Amino acid sequence: AAKQAGGARLARFDETLRAEQSERARIAAGLRQALLDDSLFMHYQPVVDTATGRIQGMEALMRWRRGDEIVPPGVFIPVAEQTGLIGALGTRALRLACARAAGWYRVHGLYLTVNVSTHQLRDPGFADGVREILAETGLPPTALVLEITESVLVDAADTSVLATLRADGVRIAIDDFGTGYSSLAYLHTLPVDILKIDQSFIRRHQDPPNPQDVSLTRAILELARSRGLVAVAEGVETQVQADLLRQLRCPLVQGYHFGRPCAAEAIDALLEQAARIPAV
Ligand code: C2E
Ligand code: MG
Ligand code: MG
Ligand code: MG
Repeated sequence: AAKQAGGARLARFDETLRAEQSERARIAAGLRQALLDDSLFMHYQPVVDTATGRIQGMEALMRWRRGDEIVPPGVFIPVAEQTGLIGALGTRALRLACARAAGWYRVHGLYLTVNVSTHQLRDPGFADGVREILAETGLPPTALVLEITESVLVDAADTSVLATLRADGVRIAIDDFGTGYSSLAYLHTLPVDILKIDQSFIRRHQDPPNPQDVSLTRAILELARSRGLVAVAEGVETQVQADLLRQLRCPLVQGYHFGRPCAAEAIDALLEQAARIPAV
């Protein structure tokens, strides 16, 4: 009986694996098609200065419309990475975002921050591709930040690509800081400017904040400061969290409390409105 049950479990496992493979294949085919039409687009989330309450930058987040649904990047980015489509997707994302952000930079002085997969860095043409898009869209390199997720291993070649762009004035951010295996080691090996504290650290802060969680966040902020890095707290959802981060002098914040990611048109409206309201 035990053997039979094991067999059944194995069959089910097989089935799950097959279902996952075919879902992956379906997503990959959909992404190939999406590169030919306009179903890939960007949402933007404000990055806010805690001292002034002003918007300083925008993070571009990729979206994919498949029929009536919007597929989240957490689903399609990994498939794009596995199938080699990430290069084309990343280029599309960067071009769309830079084109939009050039206007936001000109009028409001905002910077743009774009997520980059380490797979993209392995493309020998990556740095030139970024330069080309900047020249094409008119966004100055100093107004661009590239976010590298910290959990992924970054090797010497990746580091030299980042250093090349950094010499142009592009800034580099470590995304999801604190979730990877070698957070601290990365601060030494990567040429970075910005440290984005992962949402999991921010989410811990309830009302009232627990002293242990507060000291953890404070330690990360001190680490950033001591290395000359600008810290950004991600996933700020409540007033308590916002107040705490301001008290701890975390320079920049992002999260639903300040604004959900939304379409470029909604950002235009938001910026117009913000320009009319004096900063707090
Ligand atoms: P990320 O770069 O860490 O982006 C932050 C994620 O948290 C976004 O999810 C954003 O919508 C979400 N978020 C923002 N504020 C809050 C909040 O207050 N509460 C909560 N619960 N969530 C919040 P999203 O858009 O689903 O993106 C997920 C991940 O997909 C990103 O994480 C990034 O790593 C990746 N990604 C998104 N766009 C791109 C892209 O163009 N290229 C690449 N390579 N990766 C991308
Ligand atoms: Mg990011
Ligand atoms: Mg990321
Ligand atoms: Mg993040």
